[in-house]
Amino acid sequence: MSTAAPEAPARAVPFEFFDAHVVRTLRLGPTMLRITFGGEPLRDFASGGRDQRFKLFLPHPGQKAPVVPTDAGDAWFTAWRAMDPSVRGIMRSYTVREQRRFPQHELDIDFALHGVGDPSEASSAGFVPAGPASRWAATARPGDRVTLLGPTVHDNAGVDFRPAAGTDWVLISGDETALPAIAGILEWLPPGTPAKVWIEVPHAEDVQELPTTADADITWLVRENTTGNRTDFHLASLAAAGLPEGTPYAWIAGEAGTVKALRRHLVGERGFDRKRVKFTGYWRMDTSEEQLVEEAVSGAAGATGD
Ligand SMILES: Cc1cc2nc3c(=O)[nH]c(=O)nc-3n(C[C@H](O)[C@H](O)[C@H](O)COP(=O)(O)OP(=O)(O)OC[C@H]3O[C@@H](n4cnc5c(N)ncnc54)[C@H](O)[C@@H]3O)c2cc1C
Repeated sequence: MSTAAPEAPARAVPFEFFDAHVVRTLRLGPTMLRITFGGEPLRDFASGGRDQRFKLFLPHPGQKAPVVPTDAGDAWFTAWRAMDPSVRGIMRSYTVREQRRFPQHELDIDFALHGVGDPSEASSAGFVPAGPASRWAATARPGDRVTLLGPTVHDNAGVDFRPAAGTDWVLISGDETALPAIAGILEWLPPGTPAKVWIEVPHAEDVQELPTTADADITWLVRENTTGNRTDFHLASLAAAGLPEGTPYAWIAGEAGTVKALRRHLVGERGFDRKRVKFTGYWRMDTSEEQLVEEAVSGAAGATGD
């Protein structure tokens, strides 16, 4: 964007394992739960801000701490996959909402809870039971132990929001799982950057104040206000919007089917250059993260002829 300096490509630095524990929890709304993690090892965790992602490893019920292959170095993923699934730490992807390095060594992670809470939902059509991460977060207590696989330098490959040189304005779109990343991006954007933002949340009480000095026009899409399909709801709002003049950079994340439909709209109907649209499925309807990982592994094996 004309207001942001072009960036060098991210360095592909090795991430490291960090042991951490829950310090406190804070309910932000019906869906969002902030968990603050702490611990001396986090002194060396170096978030790059924006949509900084990392891997979170959780213990199985009955385990005191997650079991992770800390000695495997860059081969950690192969080592982790070779372990007994009922023993190895449960791996999920999350975003750093905020890091406070000194003196506390704390990280805030905002969990979008699903399938927990209101028991009346359990009998409703389309109800999806909670996955392990949502279940773990909903009952997390101070002292509970986790392991993070995260960056040791700020300029790292886990930051995806990188507007190309020549960007005049940004388009940001996501659901509640992308809300922590969107909050981080809005905090990072240079003052006055024109930003059109769509954020989908389940309930009106999930709407948050998002501090920014950007010139941000935020549309909150509250799903409890519609009986329609979530993708159509999001797409209709974006498709009806007038967009600024100039060269855009778009960042889209959230449920994979919705992300795909939004990207298709921007590239196919709005004429966005596909190289200027960063899109990431943060989760997929009816598919656990274990299934997504296995799909990715077999896709990669197929691509190399294995
Ligand atoms: C780079 C990246 C960053 C992410 N950052 C965050 C973050 O900061 N905060 C956050 O809350 N999530 C974030 N996510 C999404 C999160 O990793 C997934 O929602 C994850 O599937 C949750 O794990 P689980 O064990 O609760 O459910 P899983 O065991 O993975 O899935 C169980 C079932 O729940 C469904 N499901 C998963 N997530 C949801 C949901 N949100 N709503 C409804 N159904 C769901 C699945 O389709 C499946 O049917 C991020 C994902 C990625 C890839």
